[in-house]
Amino acid sequence: IEEIMVRSEKMSIAGQLAAGVAHEIRNPLTSIKGFLQLLQAGVNRKDVYYKIMIDEIEKMEKITSELLFISKPLTDQKEEEAVGQMIEDVVKLLKSQAKLKNITLDYHIDKEHYIHCDRSQIKQVLLNLIKNAIEAMEDPGAITLSVYLVESNVQIDVKDEGPGIPEEVIHKLGEPFFTTKQNGTGLGLMITKQILDRHDATLEILQNEDKGSTFRMTFPAIT
Ligand code: ADP
Ligand code: MG
Repeated sequence: IEEIMVRSEKMSIAGQLAAGVAHEIRNPLTSIKGFLQLLQAGVNRKDVYYKIMIDEIEKMEKITSELLFISKPLTDQKEEEAVGQMIEDVVKLLKSQAKLKNITLDYHIDKEHYIHCDRSQIKQVLLNLIKNAIEAMEDPGAITLSVYLVESNVQIDVKDEGPGIPEEVIHKLGEPFFTTKQNGTGLGLMITKQILDRHDATLEILQNEDKGSTFRMTFPAIT
């Protein structure tokens, strides 16, 4: 991984992805093959081996479905969309996952704001960021979504109360396959950045004063 990451600085995104996919898929395949050979030889502890193999296969499934999303031709269907409405849709999807961890999903919107966007893509972005926020939080707490106008740009904040992001890791976020999670794919932020690029929007990652981090998107004003 280390090696791929270093080299990746000189590679195109497609090249980075190909190298990453090869690596991420080969390892589980090697381990599944090994366990099948053990099973073929007639070992005990079959249940343990089956469990590991299923976990490895699930990991590959996850990676391939995220890659399919990336390779989908993104035909932008941009319309004027209400930000609050999109947030509400995504919050509905994630509420139960948050509740399981005693996390509340709050949102503050002074009034409805509109951005020019592809609705399903921006919902995907919100989903990725809120999911990351939920996954980052070990303890009960709140994830707060806010929408403001800043010099007629629309700014959307996703604020969590997780551990925050170590300085030395920040620049790696969004690199394909960079993950610190046991069962992460490290593709969410890359997809997020790509979608935001296509909307001329920016993503900033801020350290909160108290705890956790804030992912701030800024969309151009509708002209
Ligand atoms: P994944 O969620 O599969 O790990 P992502 O691209 O979504 O992939 O995120 C990459 C990494 O960025 C995560 O593994 C985590 O280390 C870090 N990260 C993302 N969001 C947060 C957050 N809100 N708080 C702390 N770390 C985060
Ligand atoms: Mg993620």
